Amino acid sequence: MSSQSPIPWFDDFLGVAYRYFDLRMNIVPLFSDRKEAVNLWHDVIHWWVDPTIKARFVEIGDQYWFVLGAETKKPDSNISFYKTLAKSENYERFKKGHGGEAYLRLGMYSRKSKTDVKDDAICDCGHAKEDHDDAKDNDECFYEDCKCRKFESFQVTLLKKKKTITDIAFLSEDEVKDDPLAWNCLYVNKLNKK
Ligand SMILES: [Zn+2]
Ligand SMILES: [Zn+2]
Repeated sequence: MSSQSPIPWFDDFLGVAYRYFDLRMNIVPLFSDRKEAVNLWHDVIHWWVDPTIKARFVEIGDQYWFVLGAETKKPDSNISFYKTLAKSENYERFKKGHGGEAYLRLGMYSRKSKTDVKDDAICDCGHAKEDHDDAKDNDECFYEDCKCRKFESFQVTLLKKKKTITDIAFLSEDEVKDDPLAWNCLYVNKLNKK
């Protein structure tokens, strides 16, 4: 493999959202803490050289490995990101629709309760806030066939700063050996731990 010192792998984030925003698909690693996201951007991603940013999606059954890395102007503090995730509708939509380019942004993921949102906010059960009881200590959903007892919705807030990714590939596990970034990720984080 390469002779550079190995870049540490980082998976301590919540997941990845795929959002159509600003005329382009956005790949959005999610954090619960705004400060952590801002710091990671400032210390790591800000220094990435855009044309070298690689996003890899290694599909294994119902799951995929999200792999993200780049060359940087600050090699000493560089890290690469990975996360094992379940395939989702948004993921499939991104896979079909990205057209070879995406923006990379970081995002904050937060759970909201009834008092934090407007009447038309949608609960995880699929029904709006106004379809739930508005009593102080009861959120029961009014839909007869719905078992929801507690209004909860999630919200993703995107940080403004962005980078452009033009090197995007979807790989099967067999194809990983021909892709240095994905191979290194699976070697270090999967094969080595078996
Ligand atoms: Zn509900
Ligand atoms: Zn409901």
